[in-house]
Amino acid sequence: MKTRWIFGNQLCHQLPLLNEADKQNDVILMVEAKSRSLWQSYHKQKLVLIFSGMRHFAEELEEKGFTVDYRKAESFTEAWESHRERYHPDEVHVTTVTDHRMKRALKKWENNLNGEVAVHYHSEKPLFLLSEEEAVDRLKGEGPWKQDAFYRRLRKERDILMEDGNPVGGRWSFDQDNRKPADEDTAFVKPRTFRPDDITKQVIKEVERDFGDNPGNLDAFPWPVTRKEALKKLNQFIDERLPTFGTYQDAMLLDDPFMSHSLLSSSINIGFLNPEEVIEKAEAAYAAGEAPLNAVEGFIRQILGWREYMRAVYVKKMPGYASVNELGHEAELPAFFYTGKPKMKCMEQAIRPVIDVGYGHHIQRLMIIGNFSNLFGISPQAVSDWFNEMYVDAYDWVVLPNVLGMALYADGGLLSTKPYVSSGSYIKKMSNYCKHCEFNVKHQTEDDACPFNAMYWDFLDRHADKLQDNPRMKLIYSQWQKREEEKKKEIKKKAASLKQQLTKGTLEA
Ligand code: FAD
Ligand code: SF4
Repeated sequence: MKTRWIFGNQLCHQLPLLNEADKQNDVILMVEAKSRSLWQSYHKQKLVLIFSGMRHFAEELEEKGFTVDYRKAESFTEAWESHRERYHPDEVHVTTVTDHRMKRALKKWENNLNGEVAVHYHSEKPLFLLSEEEAVDRLKGEGPWKQDAFYRRLRKERDILMEDGNPVGGRWSFDQDNRKPADEDTAFVKPRTFRPDDITKQVIKEVERDFGDNPGNLDAFPWPVTRKEALKKLNQFIDERLPTFGTYQDAMLLDDPFMSHSLLSSSINIGFLNPEEVIEKAEAAYAAGEAPLNAVEGFIRQILGWREYMRAVYVKKMPGYASVNELGHEAELPAFFYTGKPKMKCMEQAIRPVIDVGYGHHIQRLMIIGNFSNLFGISPQAVSDWFNEMYVDAYDWVVLPNVLGMALYADGGLLSTKPYVSSGSYIKKMSNYCKHCEFNVKHQTEDDACPFNAMYWDFLDRHADKLQDNPRMKLIYSQWQKREEEKKKEIKKKAASLKQQLTKGTLEA
């Protein structure tokens, strides 16, 4: 008899491991392992998403005629032992996992079987467009690599948004058309949400009971917990929200943490939707004239380009990648990352939705939270742990390259040519946050000065040895060097005082 073991982020009906299953003789094993939920103090929304998603998936498999052994256990090992005693499998089939810690745990479990049960690994392909081998093969040498080359190759090979061998519209990327700030009165179509059904309500109760001290709220739980719901969310996005995705991709607006973002990452990363079908639907919307090219190309680039690329970098660079700290940052994470009450309006707007629903859009993650963490020198591992815990779409393979690489430059520029840092002026340009903030974005050293300003120059000054020769940073360094010594001293003094305020907790509201 064969066991087919499905893990909590592989809830995909098209898994090869399922396609070739024999419904009469094979048993599907699924385990809610308490020990796995304790690896970190995960956001309650994330726990509800995974447990409810698993229970719904098990139910769907049973409806399709599979036998499912669904176990709640202290650990995977405990569940496996009971399953083995009950069914006596001679083969176990699993889908390749990407996260390193899970890979190690699986290897250990496999070694402990001493060859008494044969373990077969199946392709993870519907969960990603490329297999691990195919992805890693595209990253030659030890880096740095370029995402755009990776993306173009995939576009050509898969004939996505291509016309006679050339990119549709004559350009590979419409990024420059995707940076419009939103006006205060721009109204975006709200993303579709779902009312918790009985299964989800039960999981919410259990999570409140067993993980009540974990971060996050469960007052509203808006996430799809089945493929059917995820498809509804995808369709609504394509029909009603994709057209404005491109233009406002980098914009931020007070009290609208969603804008035109798809909110599909939690569904794609858990397996409800596969990246290929999401890309196909977006491309079809362009072909039908229902969404403009800058929106469709911008959206497809995120999935075909960034998602696959980040995963390739993770697989290639782990395990060493987890501990990179090129800039030597060691500061602790301030408490407001969990309370959601910083004085800075931009930080409050970026963290609040994370606490409420485990979500923030890309620019909030990158240019607000990542930027702040870099400017204040917070330990990259403290930041990546927080991201791993707090977002509904977070898994190690996507968190580490995005946080350590893209946002914090902790890998020394393996996947971005310069750190994504900015003063308050970028935040003012791309959002209306500053208008509602108690700090003054135009001030640098005054009592009410925007903290991002002095901290930005201080960051450049303290990392000059590593960054001033970077061709993309020469101009900004020449501006800093031209400043009068007295002014530089004043800025450094202000930055030192801000760092103290952060440590003392006086940047909390
Ligand atoms: P949209 O803006 O609608 O984008 C569409 C899709 O593209 C997303 O659903 C996602 O599948 C994919 N995508 C876009 N950018 C990336 C990227 N850089 N890497 C991988 N996929 C991408 N994404 C996660 O899925 N999980 C994370 O834990 C995560 N942590 C991040 C941390 C930081 C510091 C940064 C800068 C980015 C992070 N991202 C992460 C990438 C990106 O921010 C999210 O995928 C996106 O915000 C999810 O929201 P959405 O579905 O509305 O995305
Ligand atoms: Fe953020 Fe500074 Fe603007 Fe306040 S003034 S919202 S701290 S950038």
